Amino acid sequence: MGRYIADRTKLIDASGIRKVFALAATLSDPINFSIGQPDFDVPDALKEQAIKAIRAGQNKYSQTAGDSILKEKIAEQVEKEFGWQRPAVLVTSGVSGGLLLAFMTLINPGDEVIIPDPYFVIYKHIINLLGGKCVFVDSYPDFKLPVEAIGRAVTGKTKMIIVNSPCNPTGVVYSEQQMKALGEIAAERDILILSDEIYAKFCYEGKSPSMAGYYDKTILLCGFSKSYAMTGWRLGFVAVREALKDIIEEMTKIQQYTFVCAPTPFQKAAIAALDYDVSDLVMAYRKKRDILYEGLKNKFELVKPGGAFYAFVKAPGGSATEFVEKAIKSNVLIIPGNVFSEKDTHFRISYATSDEKIMQGIEILGRLA
Ligand code: PMP
Repeated sequence: MGRYIADRTKLIDASGIRKVFALAATLSDPINFSIGQPDFDVPDALKEQAIKAIRAGQNKYSQTAGDSILKEKIAEQVEKEFGWQRPAVLVTSGVSGGLLLAFMTLINPGDEVIIPDPYFVIYKHIINLLGGKCVFVDSYPDFKLPVEAIGRAVTGKTKMIIVNSPCNPTGVVYSEQQMKALGEIAAERDILILSDEIYAKFCYEGKSPSMAGYYDKTILLCGFSKSYAMTGWRLGFVAVREALKDIIEEMTKIQQYTFVCAPTPFQKAAIAALDYDVSDLVMAYRKKRDILYEGLKNKFELVKPGGAFYAFVKAPGGSATEFVEKAIKSNVLIIPGNVFSEKDTHFRISYATSDEKIMQGIEILGRLA
């Protein structure tokens, strides 16, 4: 087979996560703390919009950059929120689609991208596929944005810094101060900041500070997957200030010859989603966060998550992989930290499940600690 398969596939090692899923497949009714999507369904009002669009025959390609009404509405919201005049917008097939297009547009072989560690897995793999160099900056043990260390990691080859707040896998929300300080470093060295804000709505103590508010050369990525539980609808968007609109133009060019466009009927539903209030659902997630944190804090070392629906917990005994194997044998599915990090000292819990399952999971994990 090796004759057929391109060498670049070797740059992705998915064996860690596959091992977890293989073990998971042997369980009948596990406590599943491994899932990266909300446990509620798409709100009915938004489903109705998608069904209406399908019935009305809006099933063909949209414009490459996205449905014009949706784009306009996104631009209006971005303008209102960050004071960006006439931002450039591209509707993408999920934030994942936006990430691929952004990296393809911006990363040359040898370019360095600074990524706080732990990180969302996709970044590393796409950057490696493109011949870029990931420069990981440790954010253990409190997982705050490691501003000074990022400053020290900047070289003449640094093209971009990635921030993801609220963060997957840690659930940590970066402060305004940290964002501002990072913006200053990036401005001094003329570096782009890519800000992945897919979990922005899942923020439990006030509003999640956005890099877009602090730095002009921010590439803002937002998504619909998590906020409205529509991970399968594949919708996200990228926005930049007008001065960076060439980046969006080039991304659109690549979208044209890859994804073509984001799914049309779901783009129609996304117009309604932008006005849909999910605060009740977010409050329910805040309660889940509290149950989990209170249940684990006496037996485990963990930072109280401020957003998203993850906690990143130190593994007793030091090896996350070993602890995860034990947990799975006890029917609790968690993910070892080395999937999201250069270290294997922590494990990720997703508490996007029922309160009852969370309590059962806490009980079992507590016994293993
Ligand atoms: N960014 C982060 C931090 C994520 O956790 C995810 C999904 N797990 C994505 C981007 C991609 O989401 P989607 O492609 O569904 O929009």
